[in-house]
Amino acid sequence: MITLKGKSVQSGVVFGRIHFHCPDENNPGGEGVPAGDEFGRFKAAQTEALRQLEVLAEQTRAGIGQAEAELFDVHKLMLGDGDYLDIVTAGIAQGQPAEQAVAAAGKQMAGFLSGIQGGYIAERAADVLDVSGRVINILRGHAPREIKTDGPVILAGEQISPSQMVGLDKTRILAIATAEGSRYSHMAILAQAMNIPATVGLGDALTLDSDGKDAILDGEAGVIYIQPDQETAARMRQKLAGEQAQNAALALLDNSPDSTIDGKEVLVYANVASAEQAKEAAVNGCKGIGLYRSEFLFLGREGLPDEDEQYETYREILQAADGREVVLRTLDIGADKSCKYLNLEKESNPELGLRGIRLAFVWPELLITQLRAIYRASVFGRAAVLFPMIASVWEVDKLLALAASVRETLAGEGIDFDPNIPIGGMIETPAAALISDQLAKRLNFFSIGTNDLTQYTLAADRQNPALGDYYNQAHPAVLALIQMAAQNAKAADIPACVCGALAGDLAQTQTLLELGVDRLSVSPVQIPRLRAKIRALRLQED
Ligand code: PEP
Ligand code: MG
Repeated sequence: MITLKGKSVQSGVVFGRIHFHCPDENNPGGEGVPAGDEFGRFKAAQTEALRQLEVLAEQTRAGIGQAEAELFDVHKLMLGDGDYLDIVTAGIAQGQPAEQAVAAAGKQMAGFLSGIQGGYIAERAADVLDVSGRVINILRGHAPREIKTDGPVILAGEQISPSQMVGLDKTRILAIATAEGSRYSHMAILAQAMNIPATVGLGDALTLDSDGKDAILDGEAGVIYIQPDQETAARMRQKLAGEQAQNAALALLDNSPDSTIDGKEVLVYANVASAEQAKEAAVNGCKGIGLYRSEFLFLGREGLPDEDEQYETYREILQAADGREVVLRTLDIGADKSCKYLNLEKESNPELGLRGIRLAFVWPELLITQLRAIYRASVFGRAAVLFPMIASVWEVDKLLALAASVRETLAGEGIDFDPNIPIGGMIETPAAALISDQLAKRLNFFSIGTNDLTQYTLAADRQNPALGDYYNQAHPAVLALIQMAAQNAKAADIPACVCGALAGDLAQTQTLLELGVDRLSVSPVQIPRLRAKIRALRLQED
């Protein structure tokens, strides 16, 4: 028996056969002689890689989650990075074929990043290699890389790239074990979101030799036993039985309220991108859909969805939620999101530009069409509307007037709708938190978006991989703003939900509840554990 100890990423005991994956794309071979216009070939491959990454981000958004999809936005940034491009250009200028120049750039950048102290930045090395591998594959005329296995296996390798993770057939992957990597890696984040038991950093002793061998992975302990002895197998079987009993208990969490030991009831909601996900969330015991990001309906297509298409989509989600509240967020798109058919002006600072409702004000038809579709669908369930990127009271007044005029028109047309659906605002700018007393008097609920609230409070771009140590959703300044919004919501007797990634961080659940938050909206897979966590907490007195 070989015992390898690494770092735990996702818990779970798994018995299975190892499939050792050896990628070769970052090792150029056979491209000895430049084929011709190498720079032109590289540019074409770069464009195609960007296209593939957009598709991948969309798939990830729809199937896994928004935060996970943003990993691929990071890949797109890397592909346009000046230093990276300089190395490729220099290699080609020296007569190298494009494949070789790209491989050299990937290796050089990865070497540089992994030399930097501090987990987060060092971990971006794997992403650079992933991006380079993609471009090399395109240059070689190969199809996008997917890992294929001949049955359910424990997938092992030096590393598994983030894009390979997204393409995995979950029915054939029991667990993941890698020699390299840390729990900050994008692969690790994806394994957690996909709920696949995983252990990383198992060291150089995990090699191709392990391929085909029986093994047991203990995700919680971060250990893999290759060709386990009988005693270990018996011990692990016992641990597995314990886990299964616990999972069964989690799955069976009835629909009774999720309350802390001292009696605070918390509504656990779900963030979803599709009706399918809404169904999964319902099975996992969510009490509502706290965030439907309607951008998904607008991205990755050639033109705007019309009112009827939007209506159908919202109706499907409301029906999938089966009587639970569904918070439909209006379009939160800006010049940074790739919605080419909108032909938005390029902005030098898109995060601070025409985002969310700001775009709706310069293009009111967009919002009016969406609100009409939401109101029309509202008869199929319990809809709520949420406006993103609020920073001022006048914005809310203008939005409420717009919603009122939509209701008036629909009523005039004799269309059936629920005129009383709650209207809420995202608290995702520091301004919104600071004026939340005034906003609370106008709105029916708050949804605190910690992903953006953190970036705007700490002046740290949420997409910039170099800022990982600065971008901290649990920073005291962010928590102070959450508290302010939650307390003002309480004073006005309206609910305050947290729907950013902080809501799913179990280490912060107690803090959020003590700050006054009363709803948490997380990805569907996070729901059972969050519910169990809430039920085990005892809060401090105010
Ligand atoms: C947020 O900002 O926290 C949020 C939930 O919205 P998004 O991630 O879509 O910007
Ligand atoms: Mg946001």
